[in-house]
Amino acid sequence: MKLTFYGAAQEVTGSSHMLSVNGSNVLLDCGLFQGRRKEAFEKNRNLHVDPAEIDLILLSHAHMDHSGNIPTLVKQGFTGPIYCTDATADLCRIMFRDCAYIQTKDVEYVNKKRIRQGKNPFEPLYTIEDADKAAAQIRSIPYRQEFEPAANLKVKFYDAGHILGSAFTEIIFKNNGSTRKLMFTGDIGRRDIPILRNPEPVKEIDYLITESTYGDRRHQDIGNTKYELQRVVNTICRTKGKLIIPAFSIGRTQHIVYLLNQLYHEERICPLPVYVDSPLSSAATAIYSRHTECWDENALRFMKLAMMPFNFETLRYTEDLEQSKSLNDMPGPMIIISASGMCEAGRVLHHLKNNIEDERNIVLIVGYMAENTLGRKIADKQTSVKIFGETLSLRAKVEEISALSAHADKYEMLEYFEFCGIRHIDTAFCMHGERETLERFAGTLRDNGVKNVHIPQPLQSFEL
Ligand SMILES: [Zn+2]
Repeated sequence: MKLTFYGAAQEVTGSSHMLSVNGSNVLLDCGLFQGRRKEAFEKNRNLHVDPAEIDLILLSHAHMDHSGNIPTLVKQGFTGPIYCTDATADLCRIMFRDCAYIQTKDVEYVNKKRIRQGKNPFEPLYTIEDADKAAAQIRSIPYRQEFEPAANLKVKFYDAGHILGSAFTEIIFKNNGSTRKLMFTGDIGRRDIPILRNPEPVKEIDYLITESTYGDRRHQDIGNTKYELQRVVNTICRTKGKLIIPAFSIGRTQHIVYLLNQLYHEERICPLPVYVDSPLSSAATAIYSRHTECWDENALRFMKLAMMPFNFETLRYTEDLEQSKSLNDMPGPMIIISASGMCEAGRVLHHLKNNIEDERNIVLIVGYMAENTLGRKIADKQTSVKIFGETLSLRAKVEEISALSAHADKYEMLEYFEFCGIRHIDTAFCMHGERETLERFAGTLRDNGVKNVHIPQPLQSFEL
């Protein structure tokens, strides 16, 4: 058995690893590298693997850093099946298209400059046609149903509790005459995330490929989130301002809508209008609504009380750009939830531009903001920020709720692996983390009984 690590090796993006066993090449995720434009351009096109040699893909979940480069692989000649859960399949269908659209727009922007300079124009990473072709290769498999995608290879998906449809992948195969189990975590979710079930244990793991994003950190207590949100909303009710929440379209938006819904029904907040203003967020929420097989008991109970988790009287999903623009002229109090999550593109930029100079308003930060993004500058409360080339004074209040993270922290991951039987793990590979975090998390795994722990270099292979 051989493992090769193509992406998310000593970094937090572009997850992609290959398992070669018994004559089959199985790619685990094929994520988009997200970062500086030039580096992303190179890394996403140069796959370091012949797509025709890959037999199949096992996909953990729909986040772009795990799934977003699959259409590139298809464009370059991969014709095999892509296995994932049903909810992941539905999310990928809209995500692939959205990503193709962004890639096309981005290249158009770059090409304008290149043509002026007399250089050859670039092609987009992939188009909507490539995205649809990739989506047609997806085969969906329910959680906990064993399937055999290749000879002598038994696979099962378990609930990872990270986003809708997210899965831990269990692969059982024969290696040198004995039966072995490999587990690939994708991203590890958390107990008590709204809507989703808790991460399910995978027992008797021999080989582990694990994420390590927050492998040296402790999150705030998730239980307080709802009441922190209540406090911020009630401030907006008093100031009659606008509460702008930049949020990722998949996961974070639905969690916030669900919590606001509960606060509304419990009459803990004033009945102010709430707008979800992002076409991708609306489409993703429709998929969240449909896949009740992924919901936890609380969400199902909520529905039994004749309440839809993602709909309540004062909530609106905006339909078009005109409606989005009209929010500018409406008086507060109101809440606008909009993408992108790190304020780098999308409709949220317009809302920030129109509202951050008014001290009655609040910008609520609910997710990780990477360095150099507008989101980070706002979270750091810089006195002035640039939006669409215009310098604006940040007078709105900035609040932060960090407990909404969908990734387990160090203690939650350790608790999870203890539940799985950590001493059974022979060899672990720590991926998807910053260098120092990886070192610390690898140490934690060793201290708790994992025999061999590696931090692979990019493109490094291991024979086991
Ligand atoms: Zn993820």
